[in-house]
Amino acid sequence: MNNLDFSSADASQAVPDEAALQHAKASLIPTLPAVGLGFGDVKKHILDDISPGFTGSSRCPNYYAYTTGAVTDAALFADWLAATYDQNVQSHLPQDTIATTVEATTLSLLQQLLSFKERQFPGRIFTTGATASNLLGMALGREFIVTEAGRRNCVPSPTSQAVQDIQVLATLPHSSLYKAVSILGIGRDSVILLPLSKDEPWKFDLDALAENLSRSGIKTIISISAGEVASGRFATNGTEMARIRTLADQYGAWVHVDGAFGLQALILPPTEEYSALNDGVAGLHLADSITGDAHKLLNVPYDCAVFRNPAAAYLLTPRTSSIPSPLNLGLENSRRFRALPVYASLLAYGRIWYRSLLERQIALARRIASYIVGSTVYELLPNNDLSEIYMVVLFRARSESLNVQLVSLLNASKQIHISGLPWNGRPAARIAVGNLAPLESVSVIR
Ligand SMILES: *Cc1c(COP(=O)(O)O)cnc(C)c1O
Repeated sequence: MNNLDFSSADASQAVPDEAALQHAKASLIPTLPAVGLGFGDVKKHILDDISPGFTGSSRCPNYYAYTTGAVTDAALFADWLAATYDQNVQSHLPQDTIATTVEATTLSLLQQLLSFKERQFPGRIFTTGATASNLLGMALGREFIVTEAGRRNCVPSPTSQAVQDIQVLATLPHSSLYKAVSILGIGRDSVILLPLSKDEPWKFDLDALAENLSRSGIKTIISISAGEVASGRFATNGTEMARIRTLADQYGAWVHVDGAFGLQALILPPTEEYSALNDGVAGLHLADSITGDAHKLLNVPYDCAVFRNPAAAYLLTPRTSSIPSPLNLGLENSRRFRALPVYASLLAYGRIWYRSLLERQIALARRIASYIVGSTVYELLPNNDLSEIYMVVLFRARSESLNVQLVSLLNASKQIHISGLPWNGRPAARIAVGNLAPLESVSVIR
């Protein structure tokens, strides 16, 4: 698929067969050589012996297990260059390198792609992934609500008790949210789910949210899943985001959006076929912090995500330049130049290509979903509404005995790979259309 791709692995394999795995494992050299084997031999060893043991995640058209995303030619080229020049982008040293300025420009390009206003999100940074971005979002939320609670109650300095009083209100969050609150000492038990109903567990019950905030006086982070991992559905619409913003301002809460893959829906046109998705991402800019994942639908290599925050000014050390040192915004002290592949890919392909890529991904997902709706063997989840399908298709077999083996039966050929997960307490299968490869045959007709 890629001009720069020199891997010898078979791109029709979604996951390697047993023989390739066995060979790769048996070929590993477990003893450190005193005298090096030489680059040529090691290169051959890695290409011939090891790489056939990798999944086809970004290369195989039928790899649907995780939203890995593929790697565009432009991104692959720039990623290689990023490694070649090995810029450390954490300190903004404009006399020494253009790297941080490229990063700032790339973040602006991304904001243009997603139609975020430039001045709305001055605090923004590349991170290693959505997990790191969610961690940052929860950290900022923690600092904000504890300080804000102190200010509102005229308590001069926040106590550690204040952190234990934090609750995180959410609907079906990604597992990384639990990781984030656990790392930050907020605690996994602090996550409280407020689903609208059993049929729509991904949607926020806003009346319950309002009631909770008015009653508890507890410090609150509201975490919005845009979208939800298993179903691809969105937690809120524009009206609901506006109400959440008002409630958050009233009670001093923090609003975080996990838009790891859902944020990309902001690039869709406002047409009837996408109206449910347009609604799902409406008003997300009202959040205090937003996570987006570039290594997913932007199809740049691992690892790369973005984090946006409009109120980060208090985090910054005094700055002399319009570009803050990323060191003062993010988690890392050192970080690779992960903006360069994003810069290359956005410029090489442009807005229309990215929009058409997402439209073809949605078209393929909806085509699969429509087949499932018409089938007597399978059942589409969470419901039969095709207009709400983004790029994830969740389904199960109607027969319980088939359903328990469904994912392993489908994956047995190794020509296709999908993931299994529970939905409403029963096994379900999930197809995530995230990379470039399957899309050559799908055209979008409007
Ligand atoms: C993938 C994903 C994450 C974690 O992202 P990483 O980039 O793997 O750290 C978090 N939230 C959601 C909604 C995701 O889809």
